[in-house]
Amino acid sequence: MALLELRNVTRRFGSLEAVKEVSLAVEAGEFFTLLGPSGCGKTTILRMIAGFDAPDQGDILLDGLSLSGVPPEQRPLHTVFQSYALFPHMSVAGNVAFPLEMAGRSRDEIKRRVAETLALVHLEDKGSAYPHELSGGQKQRVALARGLVNKPRLLLLDEPLGALDAKLREEMQIELIALQREVGVTFIFVTHSQQEALALSHRIAVMRESRIEQLDEPDQLYTQPANRFVADFIGKINLIEVEIIAASKLRLSLRAAGLGEIAATDPRPLQAGERGAFALRPELIRVYGSKEAADLKNRFEGHVRELLYLGDVTLYKVELTNGVRIEALMPNAAPGRAKFHEVGDPVSVCWRHDAGVYLRN
Ligand code: ATP
Repeated sequence: MALLELRNVTRRFGSLEAVKEVSLAVEAGEFFTLLGPSGCGKTTILRMIAGFDAPDQGDILLDGLSLSGVPPEQRPLHTVFQSYALFPHMSVAGNVAFPLEMAGRSRDEIKRRVAETLALVHLEDKGSAYPHELSGGQKQRVALARGLVNKPRLLLLDEPLGALDAKLREEMQIELIALQREVGVTFIFVTHSQQEALALSHRIAVMRESRIEQLDEPDQLYTQPANRFVADFIGKINLIEVEIIAASKLRLSLRAAGLGEIAATDPRPLQAGERGAFALRPELIRVYGSKEAADLKNRFEGHVRELLYLGDVTLYKVELTNGVRIEALMPNAAPGRAKFHEVGDPVSVCWRHDAGVYLRN
């Protein structure tokens, strides 16, 4: 049985449906992420799980039992916010001890549990410091410690790394993964950063406009997006408008406006005449000098219109002879060579027949 289940949950604010018929199940021990653009309903879902808000329709269950009518303080969970929400007049140890004091634990137990939890987040020597004496990353670790000290079944995290700079954010991501693995507590994480979601999660629910568009493991979302929105929201992608010319077994022939025929692979039973988009990740496209040989079926001529040299890789924006633009990301791996092509160079772009995904309209 799932630890937490949302069954057909809808929440309205006046005429606005902030969450619409959302169903999902989170397993015990999972790092589960709600990912989507601002305003898609992520925080509203988290608030309903926490009990600060309630569904208008549907139900939320923990261990198969409805949480309807259970007040927030009686739910075995804790929420960590982007703003940390630490008590400024209390020391670090005081902040972490607070949930245990509320629960009426003994002094000895509080002392022991606070020390253990501060060690878990690498703040064992900061117990007597005050929040204003800490860096952003340290404050967030105190908030995490306060969230974990009472051993909740579920930890809800609302954009917890949102206030940190890029480098610290990456360090905290690595710490969060290790922390979740160590404590085994189920995490439900909210973010609008696709990079963060891919890096941290066991599974991700991608949301748009109050609904879940796709719920999958990170690599499945990246390589097998269910539709244009997911393909475009997760990472960079080329979306080419196509029509199916022929489909048999695994083989797919697509006609792209201005490009001619594209060879692709697809296990689904598809019909000739169907229209959709062909989604192709830039790192799966090779850019060759126009005279270099490449014996690939999907090969199209053009020239480099723009490029972004990024050190380890170069992003090439290639304009094909018929005006179609393709972005390709190539590693700069050749010794003694900064990049392979310059702006204006005639080139051809190629990809394997199994590199892209056909998305139905
Ligand atoms: P963000 O990433 O910006 O936090 P979000 O995906 O978490 O966005 P929510 O905060 O859940 O989105 O909001 C979903 C929609 O519901 C938004 O349009 C928001 O304005 C609206 N909304 C949320 N709470 C309320 C409220 N208490 N009253 C009225 N509208 C609300």
